[in-house]
Amino acid sequence: MMKGIAVLGATGSIGRSTLDVISRHPHLYKVHLLAAYRSINEMEDLCNQHHPSFALMGDLESAEELTARLRLQSQIKVFGGQEALDSLVVDAGVDIVVAGIVGFAGLRPTLKAALAGKKILLANKEALVSAGTLFMDAIKAGGATLLPLDSEHNAMHQCLPIQPDGTPDMAHVDKILLTASGGPFRGRDRKSLKHVTPDEACAHPNWSMGRKISIDSATLANKGLELAEACWLFDRTPDQIEVLVHPQSIVHSLISFTDGSILAQLGQPDMRTPIAYCLAWPRRISAGVDRLDLVASGDLTFEAPDETAFPCLALARKAINVPGGMCVFSAANEVAVAAFLERSILFTDIDRIINATLKSLAQKSEPNSIDAVEALDARARLHATNVIKNFTSNSNMSAWE
Ligand code: NAD
Ligand code: MG
Repeated sequence: MMKGIAVLGATGSIGRSTLDVISRHPHLYKVHLLAAYRSINEMEDLCNQHHPSFALMGDLESAEELTARLRLQSQIKVFGGQEALDSLVVDAGVDIVVAGIVGFAGLRPTLKAALAGKKILLANKEALVSAGTLFMDAIKAGGATLLPLDSEHNAMHQCLPIQPDGTPDMAHVDKILLTASGGPFRGRDRKSLKHVTPDEACAHPNWSMGRKISIDSATLANKGLELAEACWLFDRTPDQIEVLVHPQSIVHSLISFTDGSILAQLGQPDMRTPIAYCLAWPRRISAGVDRLDLVASGDLTFEAPDETAFPCLALARKAINVPGGMCVFSAANEVAVAAFLERSILFTDIDRIINATLKSLAQKSEPNSIDAVEALDARARLHATNVIKNFTSNSNMSAWE
C-alpha cells in the first residue's frame, strides 16, 4: 500500500537524499508533508517537484512568502511556525516521518510523531540524546517504530537479529564497534588545529553533509553524540561500545557476538542506502547507489581514535553517565559550532565551551518532561553563550590555554 511520508528538514542534506530515493518509487511512496525552516527557494522547487499535500516553513515570514509563490498551486496547503509542525506530523496521511531537522529544534515534532505511533526514520540524533529516556518512552507509549538513518546505527541494525517490532535482539552481543572516519583533521595534533577555518573543517573527506554535522565530524563531537545514540537505540552502556577510526568510510559499523563472530555492513558513503533500508524495512528497495567495488576501494584500515587531539569524544563518554549530561553537551555544542561557523571562536574552543558548560550545569536527576528538557537545553545555551562572551571580550585569545 502507498505510504505517506513527512520529510522534516526537507531542504537539507538528509531531506534531499530522502526525496531522491522516494522519487524512484512513486508507486510505493507519496510525499505528504515537506518541512524546512526558511530556505524558500529550495522549498518552492521541492514543492513543484514533489507536490506535497502540506508544506511548512518554521519561520513565519518565509511561510507567507511561500504561500504567495505557490498561490497557483491550490492543492498545496502552506503552514508556518513550530506549533503547526507539531500538529502536521500526526496527520492521518502521514505513515512515515523522516526526522531530518538539524539540532534540538527537531525534538518536539519527533516526540509528537512517536506518541502518535508513526514509523520514525531518525537522522536527528540531537533530539534522541537530549531527551533520552523521555524519547524512548514516547516510542513505547505510542507503539511507534524507530529505525536509525544514521549510517553507523543503520549498519548496526542491519547486522543485528531484529524482532518483528523493529527492536534488536541483543542477547548474544558482546560489543558494538562504532566506526568513525576521523574527519578532515585525522592525524593532526591539537596545536595545528587551532587556526583551522570553517571551510577546512566542513571539507569532509568522504561524506557530503550539512555544515553543523560536518563540524561535529571534524571535532569528533558527532561520534560522541553517536555513542549516546547507540546506547539508547541498542540499550548499551558506553563501555559496551568501542569507537574505531576507519578512514575509508566503507565499513559503517560492526557487531561483535559472544561466539567470536563479527558482522559488518559495507557500502558506499551515500545516505541513500540507509534511507532506502529504513523506508522499505523489512524489505529492500533500490536506492540509486552504485554497487561498491571492493577491488577499486583498496585497503580498509582501522585505528584507535586520538582523544587528546579531539577531546569531544571523551567529554561525551563522561556526559552520558551524568543525568541530563548529553542534553547539556548537545546544546553547548550547537552554540559553540554556530559561533565557530561565524568565526567568533577558534576550532579548539568548541570542546572547551562544552566542557565548561558541562561542569557548571551538573544535574541531580534526568529531566523527566519535555518542558524540563527544554529548560535544561535553554540553560545550557545561555551558559555556553556567556562562556563565549567572556572569552571574546578578552582579546587575549590564548587565555583559554
Ligand atoms: P542540513 O543543515 O543540511 O539540513 C537541516 C534541515 O533542517 C534544513 O532543511 C533546515 O531548513 C531544517 N531546519 C532547521 N531548523 C528547523 C526548524 N526549526 N524547523 C523546521 N526545519 C528546520 O542538515 P543535515 O546534514 O541534513 O542533517 C540533519 C540531521 O541529520 C542532523 O541531526 C544530522 O546530525 C543528521 N545526520 C545527517 C547526516 C548527513 O549525511 N547529512 C548523516 C547522519 C545524520
Ligand atoms: Mg553517522
